[in-house]
Amino acid sequence: MESTPLEILKQYFGFDQFRGRQAEVIAATLAKKDALVLMPTGGGKSICFQVPALMQPGFTVVISPLIALMKDQVDALVANGIAAAALHSALESGQESKVYEAIAQDRLKLLYLSPEKALSLDPVWWQHQKISLLAIDEAHCVSNWGHDFRPEYTQLAQLRQQMRGVPVMALTATADKTTRVDIIQQLGMQDPEEFVDSFNRSNLWLEVAPGIKPTARKLEILDYAKENPDSAGIIYCGSRKNATEVAEFLSQNGIAAGTYHAGMSPENRNEVQNQFLNDQLQVVCATIAFGMGIDKSNVRFVMHYNMPKNLESYYQEIGRAGRDGLPAFTRLYYHYGDLVMLSKFAQESAFPEVGLSKLNQMQAFAEAQICRRIILLNYFSEPLSGPCGHCDVCKNPPQKLDGTQLAQMALSAIVRADQQARLPQVIQILRGNQVADIREKGWDRLKTFGVGRHISEWLWNRYLMQMQQLGLIEIAYQEGFAIKVTNVGWEVLRNQRSVDFYEPKVPQKEDKIDAVAQKGTTEKSQTLRTLIKQKRSELAQAQGVPAYVIFNDKTLEDLLDKLPITFDDWLTVEGISAYRAENYMPHFSPLIDAHLAAKKPRPIPKGAVTHTITWELFEAGKTPEEIAMFRNLALSTVFSHLAKCLEEGLPVPVLDLVGAEDLERIKTAVLLLQEKTKLKPLFEHFNETIPYDKLRLAVTYWELEGVFSELSMPTPGGV
Ligand code: ADP
Ligand code: ZN
Repeated sequence: MESTPLEILKQYFGFDQFRGRQAEVIAATLAKKDALVLMPTGGGKSICFQVPALMQPGFTVVISPLIALMKDQVDALVANGIAAAALHSALESGQESKVYEAIAQDRLKLLYLSPEKALSLDPVWWQHQKISLLAIDEAHCVSNWGHDFRPEYTQLAQLRQQMRGVPVMALTATADKTTRVDIIQQLGMQDPEEFVDSFNRSNLWLEVAPGIKPTARKLEILDYAKENPDSAGIIYCGSRKNATEVAEFLSQNGIAAGTYHAGMSPENRNEVQNQFLNDQLQVVCATIAFGMGIDKSNVRFVMHYNMPKNLESYYQEIGRAGRDGLPAFTRLYYHYGDLVMLSKFAQESAFPEVGLSKLNQMQAFAEAQICRRIILLNYFSEPLSGPCGHCDVCKNPPQKLDGTQLAQMALSAIVRADQQARLPQVIQILRGNQVADIREKGWDRLKTFGVGRHISEWLWNRYLMQMQQLGLIEIAYQEGFAIKVTNVGWEVLRNQRSVDFYEPKVPQKEDKIDAVAQKGTTEKSQTLRTLIKQKRSELAQAQGVPAYVIFNDKTLEDLLDKLPITFDDWLTVEGISAYRAENYMPHFSPLIDAHLAAKKPRPIPKGAVTHTITWELFEAGKTPEEIAMFRNLALSTVFSHLAKCLEEGLPVPVLDLVGAEDLERIKTAVLLLQEKTKLKPLFEHFNETIPYDKLRLAVTYWELEGVFSELSMPTPGGV
């Protein structure tokens, strides 16, 4: 009896159900109808033509624009025991004839081709093939309205002519209407059914971090990568220089990070891409050139070190995270400096109005005080029924406050500086910063100089950006980015209108960790995960494919949840087909068995990361003072980190840090006072001449030396 689509899905791909509109698309194709499939990146477009290919006689032709993309898909199919092959310019001659042989013997189910290759083949040859479906991937390439026009694609109508009677399926992740109409016309599709899937990627955590300076950005990224050592990520940067800088910083601090940009040789780029695919690099710092054509399903985070120039780019780039459907983390750093740069680019571009308006929408998203997903999906003409609950604004709704007085302060400063000051200068005037630049212009003598000194630079930045979004001020791009007051602004200044501000919130660390915390991660064994990943890498290397082709992270997590023993157990794991179970069970079962046999694994201590970073910086030759500056921590925190390192047996040079004499004096004092839990009496004992930090470190040192064995330990961080 013939299998149903669902049975094929289970048998070959190991999935229990269809996603989104996959089942409908497949039904339409099996009924020989033309279909236009619009799904976001990661939505599962491939299944739409792969399942019908396996259910019908002959083979399915898949047109794809990039060799890398083809290779990836073919590898994944072959790893699942499916007869697939690709014909493209990078094939060796022997390989090509093997493909023709497989076709001649009716053994092939899917044939991937570039448009040029497909058109270069003899029309007579095509007519003699038994073709079940013509699938055209990345179909937007056919339209010069789209963002990725490829002239070769426009000739595909010819191919379609040669394959009379074969249904066509056009697939794309680009949603806009003009492109859609263009695809249908250019490909000569007949009365196609359109399947539009939601563009909402609900597994992505959306977050914007405004006004954070480059050094702090780098440290945050470092912290994040350290706290999530198992997570691969992409950092998108606005320039090659930034990409290189961030990658170097991360590498110096122990993260396996690489750079990827258009200025590198193709060989170097390829190498970085492969290392990333094979999990040898945790992080790639890239300019926009990276990601097109890579289908790494286990990218766990995407961060924008600089703001992208429009929401299309932003959406596409964050879309590279979490393609396996598991929770993934995204963060956009957004700074006034980016805005200045990007508006310069936009103005110098061919269509400055379009560029500036798109930039404005990008900025509005970054400044948003309502659910970010609502704004993003709105931009792609998709309404969301309510706030998503999975973005920074939903998680931490901003409080409203009456901003009239604050706005008036700023507006008055702008007016008094003759509307010639740039935004950073406005803030310097408000905060009363005595810098040369301001004094030269005589702005330090303005009445408003220093009226807003009680508000931080960061906060003023946020308020001024809100004022711009509210239309109270404008940035005059043509006049060296001077800030101008608008008519609405004048009304506020004249007290004819009030203003509401939102109290911006610095994103909370807990939220971020919460956002990526995977279900039950803590109960699963970290050791087993590492062992399984190692084994997976070995197998992948032996087969010359990326690790996730063996199985992806979602399967890995399900494997750790279910800890399957029998063959039937294995089949219940998501993404494990019978083929995979047969081939991989023998490799992984011994690891799982050993794990089950061993006693319960110890959970790894939580929060054990921040002091390690301090330690690494310290080892790299930084003084505690420098570390405190660098990491924006209190000096006492850095010392408490070092004390913790000491407790963990790291060779903290206490003698150098505290000094031999003080070290001895502190020991004597503790024994004298019979008190090591509280540091205050000690501090007073020395007439406040030895700071708490040194006291804490010294006490920990002697404690570990066993000198105070009769007394009890100081409370961590206690004073
Ligand atoms: P797209 O081409 O739309 O970007 P893919 O076809 O590469 O997306 O699919 C993205 C991921 O989703 C892949 O890892 C794929 O295995 C997975 N996937 C697709 N369909 C299903 C399904 N029905 N159930 C579970 N996972 C699926
Ligand atoms: Zn939201």
